[in-house]
Amino acid sequence: MPKYNLTVFLKRRMSAAAALILCILMLASCEFSGIGNETQPPPGTDAEITSEREAEPELTTAGVLNSVESDESEEETTPPETETEPVTETETETETETETEPVTETETEPVTEPAAEPETEPEPDNYIGRIAITFDDGPTVSIMDQILDKCEQSGAEVTFFVCGYKISQNSYAVMQRALELGCEIGNHSNTHPNFNKLTVEGIQSEIDITNKLIKDATGIDATLMRPPYGNLKRDIGRGLDKQFILWSVDPEDWKYRDAQTVYDSVIGQVGDGDIVLLHDLYKTSYEAFCMLVDTLQEQGYKLVTVSELMEHSGMPLVNGYFYYSSTYAK
Ligand SMILES: [Zn+2]
Repeated sequence: MPKYNLTVFLKRRMSAAAALILCILMLASCEFSGIGNETQPPPGTDAEITSEREAEPELTTAGVLNSVESDESEEETTPPETETEPVTETETETETETETEPVTETETEPVTEPAAEPETEPEPDNYIGRIAITFDDGPTVSIMDQILDKCEQSGAEVTFFVCGYKISQNSYAVMQRALELGCEIGNHSNTHPNFNKLTVEGIQSEIDITNKLIKDATGIDATLMRPPYGNLKRDIGRGLDKQFILWSVDPEDWKYRDAQTVYDSVIGQVGDGDIVLLHDLYKTSYEAFCMLVDTLQEQGYKLVTVSELMEHSGMPLVNGYFYYSSTYAK
């Protein structure tokens, strides 16, 4: 009898240990595969997943983005890392089944590992908000270089939406420098046409040509796209594999071409989560940018790329959607 019991006991112990190891492997695999990549599940599909994290904005199936303040159901949307919770529960159950056993060493190990994993907690910082400044219609090498000098000196990061027809071997260095400084490069079409007057094939071709040129210049696949003039019908955009970045603050720098006017316009309306539209075509826009960096950083804002703006606010970047700020997309 005692011998038989010992065998059963050992088998149970071994299978419990195997289950725990399996759980750890599953946890590790979730950890490395699910978080932070761009293939977020389509809006609405993960609604049953709950989270202890703060409520985050979400794209609903209706295609409307709800801000944190406006919708209580947002707490239900947080990506894959919360899958770890059910696993942890099974572990605990497995342990309690074998609670009569005197040996506890093997049990403490697996339990402490998952417990040490809340690495997804947002880092606390002292910024009062984040703003993404963007530049269209370049690359204009001389102005872009000056913008990057300011970025390098101040730590600001910006996003450039470039046109294919303006990319040449001469712009490779400045485009690479932008990425090295943490800035971002997106697609602004090849010839800057009005997409509302093109066929879907024509639009796709404009996007593809510029993506290839950006890749040749920098090695990256641009996923962000700003349609020229902000023109793109939503139903057509939905079928394209780009994330369309519009803007929430437009000082019309192309019209005024005066640094102080552009600066005043932006400062008068900009706030946390905004996307600011400028053009790296005019020296006045560069000058306004320098003034904006100084003031906004002094006020406590962090100047970030569009992707970082979205990531920090928990806004998923989904192909076919149009983003106006970190809290509004459709
Ligand atoms: Zn443009």
